Amino acid sequence: MLRFWFAIPLWQRVVGALLLGVALGLFWGPKAESIKWIGDFFIASIKMLVVPLIFFSLVSGVTAIGDLRKLGAVGGRALLIFLVTSQFAVWLGLGLGTIFAPGVGLDQSRIEMGAVPEPKTEGWREMILSIVPTSPVQVMADANVLPLIVFALLIGIGILMAKEEGTPLVRVFDAGSVVMQKVTILVMELTPFGVFALMAWVAGTFGVDALVSLAKLVALNYGGCFILIGVVYVGILKFVAKVPVGAFFRGMIDAQAVAYSTASSSATLPVTLRCLERNVGVSPSVASFTASLGATINMDGTAMYLGLATVFGAQIFGVPLDMTDYLLVAVTATLGSVGAAGIPGTGLIMMTLVFTGVGVPLETIAFVAGVDRIMDMMRTVTNVTSDATTATTVAALTGELDRGELVSADDV
Ligand code: ASP
Repeated sequence: MLRFWFAIPLWQRVVGALLLGVALGLFWGPKAESIKWIGDFFIASIKMLVVPLIFFSLVSGVTAIGDLRKLGAVGGRALLIFLVTSQFAVWLGLGLGTIFAPGVGLDQSRIEMGAVPEPKTEGWREMILSIVPTSPVQVMADANVLPLIVFALLIGIGILMAKEEGTPLVRVFDAGSVVMQKVTILVMELTPFGVFALMAWVAGTFGVDALVSLAKLVALNYGGCFILIGVVYVGILKFVAKVPVGAFFRGMIDAQAVAYSTASSSATLPVTLRCLERNVGVSPSVASFTASLGATINMDGTAMYLGLATVFGAQIFGVPLDMTDYLLVAVTATLGSVGAAGIPGTGLIMMTLVFTGVGVPLETIAFVAGVDRIMDMMRTVTNVTSDATTATTVAALTGELDRGELVSADDV
């Protein structure tokens, strides 16, 4: 029995569990919530990995890159791809909202209103200050990923600068990183069970009714994400990274399934790293650097949705938006997607930042809150795929991609 289970490649078990979970949820209805704890157990287990994994693998990644100039080359390229794709994403959201007008003629009485989150009052100065790891221990205890990345980068750079004297620490971090990868393999065996339970809960809780009234918005959210994945990322992978696209997606499917069911890029990070390193052939140093950073600051799905939702809200409440407003939305939605933590529902919180800028009433959030989870799941898949695309492309451009891995991605 066990042998039969392990003979099936993990990604097939995960996809099977996802489909079975949806079927069970539709059949069982809201009662499926009773097995959500299995999903929570799974999420807690992968979250446990995030801090030590980022810390060990990022420091050992920086020391493996070897010199500061190459680190700059990797970082510079990653940031450029993050910026270009997120701009494309916001304007795609704005365009889809304007063309398909999901908020025009909406039957508001059929929508169940949700809660409006506290407005985001943080300005850009606070955002910059929040990346300083004032107390590294506190940062780790709070699993505050962005300052943790800064701290790990600094330690890595410090070790490089120490040259010979830093060598013992290089070995410690290398060993720690290998050990964390092994622990990740263990935890990933829980994936089919976690995905199954989470999907049953989502499918059972969000009835079709709620979806019908906001069907256009949900469809546009999915459509926008599919365009980003199927056109933008596929284009980058094919023409810039020059990798076989089918093998890339087969290699990343575990991470996408985990992203879809957990709606959290941060929680998915250990799986993203493992897929990138093991199945796609991205070197551990580029994978950990780019994907960790991306899981925190690069959220194209969220940026696209923020643009779309702003136009949606403006249509419901009859707020006229001109070109200056669109530009302002492009800036605030990009900042919002950078500032959003990779956890469920942050896209919703960031709406307060974008809406306030152009005078769209915050009540819009109450309209969409009821179905946000369904949209969040797809945004998260997009966010994770974007990080993986960037990591693969940066690796390809800097000679850090083992192309042989992608060819054999069939047997993952
Ligand atoms: N849940 C998303 C993520 O973790 C962020 C969002 O709410 O859009 O990537």
